[in-house]
Amino acid sequence: MILYLHNSLTRRKEAFEPIDANNVRMYVCGPTVYDYAHIGNGRPPVVFDILYRLLRHRYGVDHVTYARNFTDIDDKIMKRAVEEGTSIEDVSERFTKIYQDDMKSLGVLPPNIEPKATQHLPEMIAMMETLIAKGNAYEADGHVLFHTPSMDDYGRLSGHGQDELIAGSRVEVAPYKKDATDFVMWKPSSDDQPGWDSPWGRGRPGWHLECSCMIAKHLGETIDIHGGGQDLIFPHHENEIAQSQCTHGKKFVNYWLHNGYLTMTGEKMSKSLGNVRKINDLAKEFPGEALRLTLLSAHYRQPLDFNGDVIKEQIRRLDKWYRVAGDVEAASEAPQDFLEALYDDLNTPKALAILQSYLNSDPAAFKAGAQFIGLMQQTADLWFKGDVSAEGSDDAAHIDALVAERDQAKKDKNWGRADEIRDQLKEQGIVLEDSPDGTIWRRG
Ligand SMILES: [Zn+2]
Repeated sequence: MILYLHNSLTRRKEAFEPIDANNVRMYVCGPTVYDYAHIGNGRPPVVFDILYRLLRHRYGVDHVTYARNFTDIDDKIMKRAVEEGTSIEDVSERFTKIYQDDMKSLGVLPPNIEPKATQHLPEMIAMMETLIAKGNAYEADGHVLFHTPSMDDYGRLSGHGQDELIAGSRVEVAPYKKDATDFVMWKPSSDDQPGWDSPWGRGRPGWHLECSCMIAKHLGETIDIHGGGQDLIFPHHENEIAQSQCTHGKKFVNYWLHNGYLTMTGEKMSKSLGNVRKINDLAKEFPGEALRLTLLSAHYRQPLDFNGDVIKEQIRRLDKWYRVAGDVEAASEAPQDFLEALYDDLNTPKALAILQSYLNSDPAAFKAGAQFIGLMQQTADLWFKGDVSAEGSDDAAHIDALVAERDQAKKDKNWGRADEIRDQLKEQGIVLEDSPDGTIWRRG
């Protein structure tokens, strides 16, 4: 099967050919760990988790290296540390852990490497020294800047010409810049700010530099796939290209992939609109698999509108799936036509529609497909009853006993008692579903 991917650089769908089929290398920009991740931040890791699974399927589990970083130096982290009266390490370690938990609830496989910016200062300094020596960068007023006119194809990924960038004011004007589109790789730190010693004085790196350095160190000078949200194309990815291409004199990335935006009930998520939904909160309210399925319900390059109705629709879909295939043993391989849809630039809506068609006719094949994309990871019992271990098993046993008592009451035609138990459970948020095999219950 051929894997087709839409390359943002060529703006075309291309057949994927790795540099080395024994070691396919993918990098995705990770979070800046200064706050909780919102559900929009959850879309890239889930989308690229599907690609990671496809690459492992195509090339073998041991032949794919996937790196996703943690940005643990940033002015936003510094600001939060000051506000909380704590250290930047405390802030970044806390939110790194929360992010990893969030990814677990979304069913995202851990990447092979999770490098941190603070672990790569020597590599960053070396890259800036190389770029200065080559005439691509310069020092000014304690800063190190990349000089964009030093390369002839700056702006190719985003399609922004230099004139356009200046006219659109998408660049920060500063007196120490030779050209308005030059960008900062290093900036000075005051005594009360975190900083590292460098040939240009005590300072800290700009954001773009870390990804270029981590990629070169962990994956190589030219890699197969680089992914991220569409909002990172400019300036972040454009600047990663500039740094890496000029340092190594080689093409940086063969396939660039970007996912579309996520809106919340039709609106952009923003703090001022008060519609920011944290993954951490959503995962307490809804099953992680329903959130994951929601994120996969639209094609990754299309916008996705996230709202309560969509999540509930996916919960109902999963209810049906668990009812039919929850306790079925999965086939050894996912259905071929389902995989073909995924191999076609990760067409998850089409793949899900195909998968659905197997539910009743071949539940074992259905289940293999669902598990391939990280769904149907629990038993029907757990799905319908929620996380029993978290709630306490005594609680579950107590509910079981009440349900059994209600079944007996119904057999005895004691409708009053049966209704009473139903109402009592309803108050506790337990929903009962009567079926020919008996009554099943779930946390509603
Ligand atoms: Zn990056």
